[in-house]
Amino acid sequence: MVHIKKGELTQEEKELLQVIWKGTIQEAGALLGNKNVRVNCLDENGMTPLMHAAYKGKLDMCKLLLRHGADVNCHQHEHGYTALMFAALSGNKDITWVILEAGAETDVVNSVGRTAAQMAAFVGQHDCVTIINNFFPRERLDYYTKLQGLDKEPKLLPKLAGPLHKIITTTNLHPVKIVMLVNENPLLAEETALSKCYKVMDLICEKCMKQRDMNEVLAMKMHYVSCIFQKCISFLKDGENKLDTLIKSLLKGRPSDGFPVYQEKIIRESIRKFPYCEATLLQQLVRSIAPVEIGSEPTAFSVLTQAITGQVGFVDVEFCTTCGEKGASKRCSVCKMVIYCDQTCQKIHWFAHKKICKNLKDIYDKQQLEAAKEKHEETNGKVMDVNSNCVNEEQPEVETTGSQTDSNCKTFVEGEQESLPSTTALKGMQDVPTGPQVSEE
Ligand SMILES: [Zn+2]
Ligand SMILES: [Zn+2]
Repeated sequence: MVHIKKGELTQEEKELLQVIWKGTIQEAGALLGNKNVRVNCLDENGMTPLMHAAYKGKLDMCKLLLRHGADVNCHQHEHGYTALMFAALSGNKDITWVILEAGAETDVVNSVGRTAAQMAAFVGQHDCVTIINNFFPRERLDYYTKLQGLDKEPKLLPKLAGPLHKIITTTNLHPVKIVMLVNENPLLAEETALSKCYKVMDLICEKCMKQRDMNEVLAMKMHYVSCIFQKCISFLKDGENKLDTLIKSLLKGRPSDGFPVYQEKIIRESIRKFPYCEATLLQQLVRSIAPVEIGSEPTAFSVLTQAITGQVGFVDVEFCTTCGEKGASKRCSVCKMVIYCDQTCQKIHWFAHKKICKNLKDIYDKQQLEAAKEKHEETNGKVMDVNSNCVNEEQPEVETTGSQTDSNCKTFVEGEQESLPSTTALKGMQDVPTGPQVSEE
């Protein structure tokens, strides 16, 4: 490559940098066609046009520059920042992804020894951390679809690479979600296919641990998914409904409070079986999980998710009770205490949830009543002669939601609601958790 000196920009290159900050794609495109513009030119700080575009959060500009041959791994910045670091700092998830896909190295460090993921974590761009930590290029998987050495057949059938890649790049590590992803793909939901896949994941895990820049996070993720696949295989071997049975086992709650004990045990067991006992990540996980009694917080799932995807604090987002998917918004229309992605997830969970739904509804109603009472007292205390609308606006809500409940649940839980348990004794009600939710802190 031609050596490019910092700060020696042509007039057109200076214009390009300005256009990246303030101009249009057309203007940038025209300049990139100019013979006086080098796509990897460096400004006085050693920043390329791509770094500028990433830093400014200009997705289209980044794509345009990459199409024109921008070097995604240029490392001439005065503080050792790369385009990926600028993308991660800007917090733009799409740009982070585009730059990763263009071949950005994730383990390059800046002048103070931080990787892009560490820098993003430092400034609180957790979504970008997740994207970087979980990035696994398709080519690395495709490697296993080709004949290597003395193999008679490839370790992975080419047709399985796509579905497997989808699973290993997911940021939702909920065991139910993984089994659902397997189950929805007939190519994958089969013993031989799954055996091949889990062996490949074990190989990747080994590679992650033995390579020079060890990646414990990816190694743990591969190992964990491999364990879930092996569970799938054991269920496929016996039993009628096979993977559906596995999903049910994972969701089944213990009678006292609905906590999914089997799920917790499976995740703990997977972590324990991680083959590299000297790994820092493993020790960290074991330290966080071992002292926790089964049924208490944090769950093994939340600890594992946090360690692998870097997601901290499940506070702001709602997670599906069944599959752990982020951003679920459909509430059980009876108790309003559990959330699902959609009716499919609700139906899958109903066999377990119906046992505690009524109890949860009682808790919900009580909470609503208390909230309304508080509101009422507050309003009365503060302003005595407030026009009555003001108070009423809030209060009927309790009843409205209550009456909607009855009509809604018929459609939402589809006739199954007659099997709702009769009112159970109120004792111990406060202890009933809202089901196997991961969103609880
Ligand atoms: Zn779901
Ligand atoms: Zn419910």
